[in-house]
Amino acid sequence: MTSSHSTNATPVSNPYGHPLPSYLQADRLGPWGIYLQQVDRVIPYLGHLARWAETLKRPKRALIVDVPIELDNGTIAHFEGYRVQHNTSRGPGKGGVRFHQDVTLSEVMALSAWMSVKNAAVNVPYGGAKGGIRVDPKTLSRGELERMTRRYTSEIGIIIGPTKDIPAPDVNTNEQIMAWMMDTYSMNEGATATGVVTGKPVELGGSLGRREATGRGVFTVGVEAARHIGLDVGQARVAVQGFGNVGGIAAKLFAQAGARVVSVQDHGGTIYRDAGLDVPALLAHVAEVGTVAGFAHAEVIANELFWEVECDILIPAALEQQITAANAPRIKARLVIEGANGPTTPEADDILQERNILVLPDVIANAGGVTVSYFEWVQDFSSFFWTEDDINARLVHIMKEAFAGVWSVSQDKKVSLRTATFIVACTRILRARELRGLYP
Ligand code: GLU
Repeated sequence: MTSSHSTNATPVSNPYGHPLPSYLQADRLGPWGIYLQQVDRVIPYLGHLARWAETLKRPKRALIVDVPIELDNGTIAHFEGYRVQHNTSRGPGKGGVRFHQDVTLSEVMALSAWMSVKNAAVNVPYGGAKGGIRVDPKTLSRGELERMTRRYTSEIGIIIGPTKDIPAPDVNTNEQIMAWMMDTYSMNEGATATGVVTGKPVELGGSLGRREATGRGVFTVGVEAARHIGLDVGQARVAVQGFGNVGGIAAKLFAQAGARVVSVQDHGGTIYRDAGLDVPALLAHVAEVGTVAGFAHAEVIANELFWEVECDILIPAALEQQITAANAPRIKARLVIEGANGPTTPEADDILQERNILVLPDVIANAGGVTVSYFEWVQDFSSFFWTEDDINARLVHIMKEAFAGVWSVSQDKKVSLRTATFIVACTRILRARELRGLYP
């Protein structure tokens, strides 16, 4: 295939030879390029469905929106927003909205594709979607944040909806932002539409257990994976990167199970305590100051040393591309549980596999969030709300069943858990595609 791209934008292989649109010829080193490499690894296992595999390499729909707001100082600021629906073969688009200064179209495309895989892996009846705004929300006042959220929602309102595409929280977005999104969409529709977003406050049709669901899912499948490799979670040393909604809750549950959380890294720095950090105290500290930095009962270590910490379980629960060919050789853990989306590059995946370190991939490990989002959406449609025990029991059931299926495929086919999860998920997506057929 010929390419007019610069040297750092290697065209990604395309087994069917159709030229890819320019925006899909992503930098091989970026998240979309990584996703395409993951898809290439699964194609040999798709049998006759490989005929449809090109579907996985092209987002169905991508919307770029301008989000202008008036800042508190009277000036006008423009932010770039996106909503990408990667696939809707199995149901409406579903996936979070991220506010971060590094958000790009290619990142949102990758995140939307990972949602398609994740939703199919746990067999919830959704396609995959994702949205984002390129902004550091810490620089905005509450009023500015609300105006930006509302204008963004209104702009993407032409493609979202309870039966079309359902946003949810992701990095730097939360229940309040979902409440503003729900209200804005509802105002434009002229009727309260609780089911347009999930991860809402419980008072507005949110679900009990949703806030903790991603971390609870990380813990649930983490314990299953640990059991399969003979690792006793009650004796384990755990290191966690990211101490937000995912890392913080997962750390709490591992500590409650008897594990020692020895190191935590976030945007403010890296802390360490050989005897184990006091996780409830650390959660309280982070709730107050916004970072693990400055926590009194721990030593500070250099950020680079985080990857060499003596531990059994490593949980990257922050952003993409954290575990790379550069640090994978130094990782001491026996099990990596991906709380974040896309934290491990394909090169690092291979290094970890060679070193016999098990990677529990994002597309199964962090699927607890969207699983309880699904419960929330179902509850909103029926206006009948379940107990927290009910929700947690159903979450654990779905996660364990999904893990067991993926584990057995990985054993049968002698492939990584990531490729096994892609085999299960992409087979479901492409089978739906095949059954629906092409229109017209
Ligand atoms: N943002 C979360 C994820 O990456 C949750 C998405 C959802 O609940 O729709 O899985």
